Formats: sequence, C-alpha cells, structure tokens
Amino acid sequence: MSEDKIKTTDPRLRSKLRFYHRKKITITFFILTGICIFLMGRLTHFMIFCSEHYAEAARELHERERSIKAARGRILDRNGAVLADNRTVCSVSVIYYQIENPEEVIRFLSRELSLPEEEIRKKVQKRSSMERIKSNVDKETGDRIRERNLAGVKVDEDYKRYYPYGDLASKVLGFTGSDNQGILGLEVKYDSYLQGSKGKILTMTDAKGIEVEREGERRMEPIAGKDLVTSLDVNVQSYASQLAKQALKTKEARGVCIIVMNAKNGELIGMVNEPEFDLNAPYELCEDDFIGMEGKSEQDVLNAKWRNACINDTYEPGSTFKIITAAAGLEEGVVSTGSSFYCPGYVVVDDRRIRCHKIAGHGSQDFTHAVMNSCNPAFVTLGLRIGAERYFHYFDVFGLRKKTGIDLPGEAGTIMHKLENVGNVELATISFGQSFQITPIQLLVTAAAIVNGGTRVTPHFGVKVLDPGTGEETSFSYPVEDGIISQETSETMRYVLEKVVSEGGGKNGAVTGFRIGGKTATSQTLPRGTGQYISSFLAFAPAEDPEVIAIAIINRPKGTYYGGQIAAPILRQLYENILSYLGIMSYTSQEE
Ligand SMILES: [Zn+2]
Repeated sequence: MSEDKIKTTDPRLRSKLRFYHRKKITITFFILTGICIFLMGRLTHFMIFCSEHYAEAARELHERERSIKAARGRILDRNGAVLADNRTVCSVSVIYYQIENPEEVIRFLSRELSLPEEEIRKKVQKRSSMERIKSNVDKETGDRIRERNLAGVKVDEDYKRYYPYGDLASKVLGFTGSDNQGILGLEVKYDSYLQGSKGKILTMTDAKGIEVEREGERRMEPIAGKDLVTSLDVNVQSYASQLAKQALKTKEARGVCIIVMNAKNGELIGMVNEPEFDLNAPYELCEDDFIGMEGKSEQDVLNAKWRNACINDTYEPGSTFKIITAAAGLEEGVVSTGSSFYCPGYVVVDDRRIRCHKIAGHGSQDFTHAVMNSCNPAFVTLGLRIGAERYFHYFDVFGLRKKTGIDLPGEAGTIMHKLENVGNVELATISFGQSFQITPIQLLVTAAAIVNGGTRVTPHFGVKVLDPGTGEETSFSYPVEDGIISQETSETMRYVLEKVVSEGGGKNGAVTGFRIGGKTATSQTLPRGTGQYISSFLAFAPAEDPEVIAIAIINRPKGTYYGGQIAAPILRQLYENILSYLGIMSYTSQEE
C-alpha cells in the first residue's frame, strides 16, 4: 500500500487507488474469518457432540480386556475352620505383536511350564491378540516367568478352589468348575453368595495390538464373594468319617452313611458318605469306581461317585420306621404302654403269613417290649388297628410325604403307595418299614420331631454368610413346624426308645454315662431276593431331652449284617467321642 510505488501525481487517481486497496483488504479479511469460523465450528462439533462416539470407537479398536476372577467366598465350619479355600494360581499368555524373540519365549516357557516346544510354538506363531498358554500355573512358577520380563509374555493372577481337608464331607461341600461356578453340593446351593463378581484389566494398544506405554492399564477391581458359615463341625465330621471308612473296609460294604444333626434346630453337624472322593481331584476315577457300573459312560460313573446317598437316594428303611408307626398308634389312641401283644412267630394277614425275625415268637409282650423286641407281628397288629386312611393322615402330619427342604441340591422324595392301592398286606408291610422308600435324611428329621416334643425342623448346613469386605453378616432362617405330635406321645416315645438301647435290640449302641434312645434296622436291598442287606441304627442323646440325633447306615455289608450288631457300635463309638465335646453332660457328671 505504499504510495511511493504508485508513480502518479494525479490526486483523483490516488484516491481511487486507495479505495480499491481498502476493498481488497476487507474482502480478504471476511473470507479468512469465514474459513476460521467454519473450521472452529467443525472442531467444536467433533469435540463436543461426537466425542463419546469417537472415544468409544478408539477404545474398541485399541483396548484389550482381560477379566480378573473374584475371590470366591470360603466355606467354613461352625468354629471357623476353612473347608473350602482359594489358592492363588497364574495363567500365562502370549501376545503375538509384542513378542520380540519368539524362540527365546518358546524355549523358556516350554522349560518353565513343562510343555512341549511344538505346542507353545503353535500359539506363539498365531496372529491373535492374545493366546492362553497355560492356566492353573502355581504362583512360584508364575512369579519366575513374570520376573524374566520377556516381551509379549503376560502372567495374570487367578484363583483356584482348594479344599484343605481333601475328601472330608466331599458330597456335602461339592466343588467348582473352571469358571469358578459351583458344580455340586453347597458350592451350587450357595453359589450366588460365594461367587462375587469379576473385575477387568483394560489395556490401551495401538492398531497392531502393541501396548501404548503412557496409557498403562485401567483396572476395575473384582468384588470378592461372601464366606459361608456352616453348621458342620470338622471334628465330628472327621471322627464320623473315620468310623465310616473303617466299617466300609471291614464289612466290605458298598457304602456307609452317617448323619449327625442337632435334634432341636436341624443344624447338620456331620454328614458322611463313604466312599468320599478327593475334592481337589473330583474327576479322577479308580478301578473301584467301576464296580457295578458295567456298560456305563464315564460321566455316569462320576455322577454315581458324587451322589450323596443321605439325600439323593431312597431306601427301604425297615425297623427304624417302627418309630413312626408307634408314634402314629399313640397319637391315634389305639395303643398305650400298657397294651399287650402276642407273637407266635408270625402273623397272618389276608392270605399272607408274615414272619417275625424270632421264629419261635416273642409270646406275650407289652407295647414297650414289642418295640424293644422289634416284633413284626406286634407292629402289623398296630398298623391294622390304625387303618390305612388314618396311617396316611399321620404320614402327612409328620411331613413324610414332602421333602425335608435341606439346603443341598437333588433331594429325593418319599416313594409311597397310593392310598387307594393299600390293602391289609401293604399296610402290614408299611407298618414295619417295608414296601416303600424314603431318604435317610427324611427318616432322621421325622424321628427327631417325634422325640424332640413334636417340632419338625428343616435340616440345614447354611448358618450365615459374611461379607469379607464390610464384615456384614446375614443369617439364614428355616421353616419350623411345631406340634406335629403331642408332648405325651413324644415323652412315651423317648421312654420306649431309651429302653430299646438300655435293654432291647439296641444294646450295642449304649454309651456309658449317657442316656441314649434309639432303634436298629436290617432291611433288604431292592430289588429283593439278592441276599443283600442294609443295616442301620438311629440314636439320640440325651434320651430325656434330645440334643443330638444321628443315623448310621451300612449298605450291603458282607458277613454279619444285623443293624444291632454292626451299625449300633458305630454310633456308640461316635457318641463316646463327641457327646462331651458337643457340651452334652453325662449323668454321672450331672450327679456330682
Ligand atoms: Zn415277634
């Protein structure tokens, strides 16, 4: 705009030129400003209105996600002993685009993880964002691999379920799968409390999958599962387990079950199912597991091995069921302790002759002695007096036809005749515990109600859950049904059943210093006629005010098979060892 460049002296021309320059400047200014405003507008649009969209897109492309397992809640016994715990393990992975020296990675991982080089090579050479080489690697090995700091090798920490007591209460506790989920037992039933929720590790990477150093990792911490406190007592369970193992071996039996329950509130203190299995290796099978499983698949064999016979299986109870018949008879008023029965060694019902186990007969006996003798003809007479309709009424009142509601999966129900199909012969056989099937837990819970004053409890293991983070506790409560029989009937039953142990067929179950009530049974396995038996003994203590009730069942013993001879001594030894421990005073110590 310097005027000296314009070589003119004409004032009119000079002012025209000046005007022309001004116009040019103004137009240029407006064009530039317009471009600027347009660019700023676009930028604002991207930054404000589309930022989430683009940030998300960037993250999807460049963020790698790894999940962090939550620590599963532990399972504890009543005193805090840890029955199911977590062990820290590691998983080792490789990231193709980060590996700088593939051969070194292959050699090193092969040596540390005891895997063939070929197997690792395949994964190292795979162009994927991340390849898992091995999981469940012990922590020491994982730490060593991490310390070597090889580019492209990732070590993540992980949890593995660990059962410190091995096979103890295996069919009760159950175990978990690879994804931390419950598969059997309490692990399934309380899964929603135990599981917790997974966390995440998010890593920013560039388009090739290489980590962006500055961005680092974003962690979303997992939430640990809650601890489950159970009513199990490790000491009682261990001792019962030992006795069951011993009986299994000496009697060459198919199985031995023992259940120990608090007779007043249904807390299960012990539940043994020998043979148990190692919870740390639940899928391992041995030769014995295939006995009687010819032609079955491996999964069938595993399922059979994991079955909890105390609740998943039914059996014909035999004479322990006379407790129910006797209580129904007392409630119905068709028998009293003064009633007398006559046993010539058999009883004829319609066209059937039903034998007593004492072929010579028990002769004349009162009700108490009929129970002490476990006399079949006396119980047949009693059953017929009650009648099918009333008998079935008591079945319902006692709760025998619904499930116990135990907090374990897969409880089996009672398999009973339909009332319309029950003639005299069926009624006679039901009266002494034959021709139908129930679970051991159902029998135990019903017997408990009969001797505890008429309260039907819900058998259970779960007492409460604890939040390890906040210390918050949530206790469980279970249905209880009072008054299923009268106090008088309950008292009479306690008296009669104490006589069974002190003087009758349950003598081998007597415990020095303690008042014990109980009933033995010897029943045939089904289908009948194989010459195989189930021997059992049910007993409670103290007889006058039962605190604890237990049942021992030996499935298919060899040699002597009478419940009074082989099952009663198991509970005697158990009670000798646990009654004082459970705080039950012997009458000798009470007198002092
Ligand atoms: Zn008899």
